[in-house]
Amino acid sequence: PIRQAEPDKTKKTLVILGTGWGATSLLKTLDTSLYNVVVVSPRNYFLFTPLLPSCTVGTIEHRSIMEPIRHITRHKQRAVHFYEASCTDIDPVNKIITVEDQSDIKGEISKSTISYDFLVVAVGAENNTFGIKGVTEHACFLKEIWDARRIRTKLMDCIETAAFPGQTNEEIERLLHMVVVGGGPTGVEYAGELHDFLVEDLIDWYPDLANKVKLTLVEAQPTVLPMFDRKLVEYTESTFQSHKINILTNSAVKEVSDKSITIETKDKERLDVPYGLLVWATGNTQRSLVRDLMTKLSSEQTSRRGLLVDEFLRVKGDSAIWALGDATFTRYAPLAQVANQQGQYLGKFFNKLGRLEAQQQQALLKALPADKENASSSTLGEDPSWPKMRTFHYSYQGSLAYIGADRAIADVPFFGTKVASGGFATYLFWKSAYASLLFNPRNQAMVLTDWTKKTIFGRDISRE
Ligand code: FAD
Ligand code: NAD
Repeated sequence: PIRQAEPDKTKKTLVILGTGWGATSLLKTLDTSLYNVVVVSPRNYFLFTPLLPSCTVGTIEHRSIMEPIRHITRHKQRAVHFYEASCTDIDPVNKIITVEDQSDIKGEISKSTISYDFLVVAVGAENNTFGIKGVTEHACFLKEIWDARRIRTKLMDCIETAAFPGQTNEEIERLLHMVVVGGGPTGVEYAGELHDFLVEDLIDWYPDLANKVKLTLVEAQPTVLPMFDRKLVEYTESTFQSHKINILTNSAVKEVSDKSITIETKDKERLDVPYGLLVWATGNTQRSLVRDLMTKLSSEQTSRRGLLVDEFLRVKGDSAIWALGDATFTRYAPLAQVANQQGQYLGKFFNKLGRLEAQQQQALLKALPADKENASSSTLGEDPSWPKMRTFHYSYQGSLAYIGADRAIADVPFFGTKVASGGFATYLFWKSAYASLLFNPRNQAMVLTDWTKKTIFGRDISRE
């Protein structure tokens, strides 16, 4: 590949914020010879989130689902500048972003600015605590690799502490009560993984304690997994019942302390439930960077749930910023498959845009209609010599979730209808689908090795 490190003044600067699903798929599709490309993210790797729950108990080792972003950038047509930093401010008037190194080790300079011609906001979302007291201090989240590692460490700490000589029965009971808040796919998949660890490994290593481990899933709504077919919800609930996973529906957690949570039932009854490990999986909220940008563009940014974009993924109220994935609020669910398809779409969009002469680019940008929410036209611009730009369309590929004991559930589209299936065959489908979706052969080999290792030797119970 032709490599050129210095910015080329004849090219526009395209800045991409993030190294998650949206940003990585954009970067992979993008012809980087067309722009000065800069990527900014506090994480120097891509994370394959669908297999993250498996890392909480060691079914898969965490590095197997991480791909260094430089593996991707070094194979591009022209050098991409990657900066490990968080973007802390976007100035849409002057087209400048502020970046800060927020890692532990900082040099003499840890804050800087970068100018852009085009900006792509792919920063995802953060965990929603709904402002509930004590959550941030005492609960573990399950979004990033460090969350999964923290859960694994804390879980083993609870078990070893329960094994401490002379521990009282009441304290053992508390330490071995694992509570998951949120019955969405994250909470359900984590509960399934924890069940497997318990029956496949802990029972052999801690025969006196394993049968005292209790697992409770707390969900504010009447059922878990509301986005799945009704039959699959019932299948999941009955599977959990047979695995002795206690599901408390119509129960909202109202307060969290270091050793117990307060649950409010539908009848407004309040219960204090002691716990050893608390995993909080109640969905997403916007990052402060996104909220600030929404405030700056407030005349067009009227939703509090995320950036509003037009049908070409351009941020409403600014002609030089695009956004995708969990940072946006669209008619699509916040899913990896949505962010991935949006990234591919934007990659193609910028490839077409980059191939146009500078003045044509300006004309094309002006031709982007201000509001394409209800657009029926599939082309952009009126000059037939311009490339046709289709509006973004999401192609639903189905929903899959692992529920433990080698069972998975799937809602898959099939010739205009949906096929719902659950069980061992669906689990094999889940495994092969995710193994093939993993981005590169290196990660595929690592995940397949982890699965084999777990089957032969069991999971590692060391506490890191
Ligand atoms: P992300 O992938 O979250 O990436 C955001 C990026 O922005 C990260 O690199 C982050 O470090 C970076 N960033 C954050 N702040 C800044 C900043 N200030 N400046 C610069 N960069 C920043 N979806 C599915 O479709 N199928 C699944 O099976 C599935 N399983 C999941 C399992 C779990 C445990 C979780 C948590 C989610 C799962 N999802 C799944 C949802 C999916 O992961 C998200 O929808 C997807 O990651 C969104 O992609 P994104 O690019 O918008 O954000
Ligand atoms: P979610 O938003 O899907 O579910 C959160 C759940 O928490 C909701 O059911 C909500 O009612 C409940 N809740 C909220 N506050 C509560 C409280 N105080 N007490 C008790 N329950 C409470 O969140 P998620 O599971 O983290 O998923 C986030 C996104 O990622 C979703 O779009 C999801 O589809 C996606 N995801 C998909 C998969 C998959 O496809 N296998 C896996 C994980 C995540």
